[in-house]
Amino acid sequence: NSSISPFSYRDTIQEGDLALVWVSRDNIKPIIIDAKQMFNTRYGSFSHKSMIGKQYGSQIAIRTKGQNRFSFIHVMQPSPELWTLSLPHRTQIVYTPDSSYIMQRLNCSPCSTVIEAGTGSGSFSHAFARTVGHLYSYEFHSVRYEQALQEFKNHGLSNITLTHRDVCSDGFTVKKSDPTSHLFPEGASQATINANAVFLDLPAPWDAVPLLDEVIAKNQKVGVCCFSPCIEQVDKTIEVLEKCGWTEIQMVEIQGKQWESRRQMVRTLDDALERLRDVKRRKQEGIERRKQMYDAVLKDDETDGENSERPQPPKTKFNPFGKGTRVREGDANYQWKQVTRVEPEIKSHTSFLTFAFKIVDKSKVC
Ligand code: SAM
Repeated sequence: NSSISPFSYRDTIQEGDLALVWVSRDNIKPIIIDAKQMFNTRYGSFSHKSMIGKQYGSQIAIRTKGQNRFSFIHVMQPSPELWTLSLPHRTQIVYTPDSSYIMQRLNCSPCSTVIEAGTGSGSFSHAFARTVGHLYSYEFHSVRYEQALQEFKNHGLSNITLTHRDVCSDGFTVKKSDPTSHLFPEGASQATINANAVFLDLPAPWDAVPLLDEVIAKNQKVGVCCFSPCIEQVDKTIEVLEKCGWTEIQMVEIQGKQWESRRQMVRTLDDALERLRDVKRRKQEGIERRKQMYDAVLKDDETDGENSERPQPPKTKFNPFGKGTRVREGDANYQWKQVTRVEPEIKSHTSFLTFAFKIVDKSKVC
């Protein structure tokens, strides 16, 4: 079934499919479905055979070895978002909070022609390929170029032209003599690009920006986004963007956070007073216990260790506000209210996003 892209929609899991196995939120593994193979996890092995014919999204369960428990996985259909979470990393990658925002700011649609450099691990390329009409992607590292070429072919991403090129020194024009996946129409010696959006994920975007005029659409507003981890790079990029006639320059930072929905125990004023009394009681008990232990040590020394029975701290009882037995969230013996909690750390920031726009020939804007 290699002619159908694994990224195009289908209902059921079939032999030869690229499927993504969801083990946990941060453990998603790509597999090629093969009836003779097993998918091994530390909880047990799942046969691919048990997945074939099931609906994508299905839960596959097995009984764990030696225990009367179940272990399960979910088999998902590939999407650019899940691919980003499971792909083999060859470089740093762009994650969905950034890629979705960038595509929206650059007005990407099936009518768009987009330039991307460098290709890297192809994370953003997959997202672009689903949304835009055509993607021209450039990579100067030969091994990464070959790997991406193979991957795009395997994934049936026929709207990507991948070119092996140093865009900072050689620009973006794709010629017939170049190592490229571009399919040139008869008689054409170079590709007609006319890009209306550009994404640069390069260490030195300022070297590539002056070379864009040759390949961007002349008669419409074109957007560029430069993805840079350091503010010094942003500074340098903005300087060159201004020099090259790009306007509406803005720098944005994405700070994505997870919102968690959970239940919190309802506490009354009486509970709070009881908690204060409990703290006081424990403090007093602690003082007395330490005094007893101190006395016992002194006595031990006098009797040369004959009396080895020492007072032990009493076992703590449950206290809903402090130490003691843990209460399961939602325990029916207590009252609960629904609350939301925001993750304290920001995990999605990887770079600053510098946006700018340009109309090369204002007299011909359509
Ligand atoms: N955006 C990619 C993704 O989401 O997977 C990751 C890009 S990675 C951070 C940067 C890539 O740019 C690297 O693979 C590197 O080899 C490539 N690169 C750096 N300078 C380049 C240049 N001048 N021309 C072409 N590619 C370049």
